[in-house]
Amino acid sequence: MNLHEYQGKSILKSFGVAIQAGKVVNKVEDAVAAAKELSAETGTEWYVVKAQIHAGGRGKGTVEETGSHGVVLAKGIDKVEETVKGILGGHLTTAQTNGVGKKVNQVLIAEDVYYPGESEPSEFYMSVLLDRERGRNVIMYSTEGGMDIESVAEETPHLIYKEEIDPRVGLQGFQTRKIAFNLGLSGQAMKQMTKFVSSLYAAYEGCDAAMFEINPVLKTSDDKIIAVDAKVTLDESGLFRHPDYAAMRDKTEEDPTEVEADEAGLNFVKLDGNVGCMVNGAGLAMATMDIIKLSGGNPANFLDVGGTADAERVEKAFSIILKDENVKAILINIFGGIVRCDRVAQGVVDAYKSIGTFPVPLIVRLQGTNAVEAKKLIDDSGLDVQSVVLLQEAADKVKEVLA
Ligand code: GDP
Ligand code: MN
Repeated sequence: MNLHEYQGKSILKSFGVAIQAGKVVNKVEDAVAAAKELSAETGTEWYVVKAQIHAGGRGKGTVEETGSHGVVLAKGIDKVEETVKGILGGHLTTAQTNGVGKKVNQVLIAEDVYYPGESEPSEFYMSVLLDRERGRNVIMYSTEGGMDIESVAEETPHLIYKEEIDPRVGLQGFQTRKIAFNLGLSGQAMKQMTKFVSSLYAAYEGCDAAMFEINPVLKTSDDKIIAVDAKVTLDESGLFRHPDYAAMRDKTEEDPTEVEADEAGLNFVKLDGNVGCMVNGAGLAMATMDIIKLSGGNPANFLDVGGTADAERVEKAFSIILKDENVKAILINIFGGIVRCDRVAQGVVDAYKSIGTFPVPLIVRLQGTNAVEAKKLIDDSGLDVQSVVLLQEAADKVKEVLA
């Protein structure tokens, strides 16, 4: 589950990671009051206004309606309202929004932390994630932070360092010092960075995160180390331990069909193929997707209907699959272990009838308890459904209807 920047930052703060002060608003009318409150806390009247959407690249992105960028400096309280107006409610397109602007429902007004001082502020890159090949968490970091980390990774990958954490002993002091040293820091900034890294890692572990990406990590002109941006992805399997984080979910940022499926208790992932599948059990779903591939099709989705495939669930699953215009055929492949095949078959027939005109060919394979009765039920239904017995037959039928 992805979080907004302001939510990620609130988690970081609770683990002792330094962030810049900020307030979130969802109405233009609230912007000035929020900025004033912020000034009372921070003493500065320079702000940065930041669109809150689940996509990076906001600084270089453009709001369709106004031409504003998604991250804008507002120098003075009189600039805040105008700046917020240029962003809030608009559609922000960035390199990460796949060509479709994302509606901005909230903006973060934060203190400008790039103030001048003894030294220049500098931007670093830092992320924490699981390296699946190594089976360990790694901290990736670079002196080349800011808005162009993708091209750094592409053109000068040697400028990105990796520090692996041994799960038996956790992050060690020598590692946080090495990171600060490699980032070219010394004195107070070095001390601040070691604290920053250890708090960041504690946050990553403590909130069951899948990924943290802080870009930029800022060294201020007076040697403070601050998280200026926060991209946080939490592991959904760990959310039951964190009801407060689970409540941070913003469904408006997610694929609407996946949200609908989730609410219906269906395990659904949209893919970009042409054969819809309805299966019970993740293993059988994967095998079914393989079969579709082998017969020359491409799965349009992963869908595990789970243990109870009654008419209502089957109908819901149909309606979700059929929302996808790429779907040219549907393959149902269900194993009746606990659920009896004839019940599933009845569910399929009822759902089919209630949809009325079924727009694509439907192939059904039901195996297991009462499979024979199930096939008879479908064959006798008079509906335009192709029932098959073997997996190979299912594959052949898919090939046939796609041809
Ligand atoms: P992203 O573009 O979505 O990654 O959004 P960021 O939060 O990283 O902001 C983009 C850029 O805006 C950063 O790389 C900074 O250069 C700049 N920026 C962010 N916060 C401030 C700030 O407080 N003051 C100034 N002057 N620039 C900022
Ligand atoms: Mn960023």
